[in-house]
Amino acid sequence: MSDTANNLRKNLAEIQAAISRAEADYGRAPGSVQLVAVSKTVPPEGILPALEAGQRVFGENYVQEAKEKWPGLRERFPDVELHMIGPLQSNKARDAVRLFDVIETVDRLSLASELAKEIAKAAGARRPRLLVQVNTGEEPQKGGVAPSDADAFLLACRERGLEIVGLMCIPPADQPPSPHFGLLAKIAARNGLKTLSMGMSADFDAAIQLGATHVRVGTAIFGARPARAA
Ligand SMILES: *Cc1c(COP(=O)(O)O)cnc(C)c1O
Repeated sequence: MSDTANNLRKNLAEIQAAISRAEADYGRAPGSVQLVAVSKTVPPEGILPALEAGQRVFGENYVQEAKEKWPGLRERFPDVELHMIGPLQSNKARDAVRLFDVIETVDRLSLASELAKEIAKAAGARRPRLLVQVNTGEEPQKGGVAPSDADAFLLACRERGLEIVGLMCIPPADQPPSPHFGLLAKIAARNGLKTLSMGMSADFDAAIQLGATHVRVGTAIFGARPARAA
């Protein structure tokens, strides 16, 4: 096995151990937190060792990139669960519904409507689970609904026949993340939502403390990405 593959195996084992430890530390049920391995910019041959090590849940940021990488890998590992975690353009809704098992970045009514349409067209063959992204830091450059709009947005999604199972956030890079995780958990609780995607390489422990069901970890598994693709 190559050094890169060995490192990746070691990183994965360490992250899984850290997740188990956090579950125990914070009174979370064992196995209640899922690791989403964020493989954006990693080529299929770089992802393969993670699949061979048993990792099955992956996150990608770009529809086009996922479309190029995953159909081939999926032929070999049909039980993969793929999460869309990047901004989604409405004109990519169709591809996204076909490719992804979970779409974490529903954040506009126009997108919600397109997704509802494409899911109806797929007629039961494809029905990705959907999360709403909340822009907890209200950063203009980031996607997501404002925290004060979240309840109304969730209601509007339901009115369009779209079932939302949870929330996702990306806290501002220059702030302590915990208040953002706490806010996301609070919005989810008052809307009866069970799935919480929050926490990345640097802060997944805090996210687990505050209720994350999914942590999205890239760098700590696959190493640093090329700068422009961050
Ligand atoms: C890239 C990315 C991650 C992974 O970030 P790391 O710091 O590399 O762990 C998680 N979530 C989203 C939305 C991302 O775009």
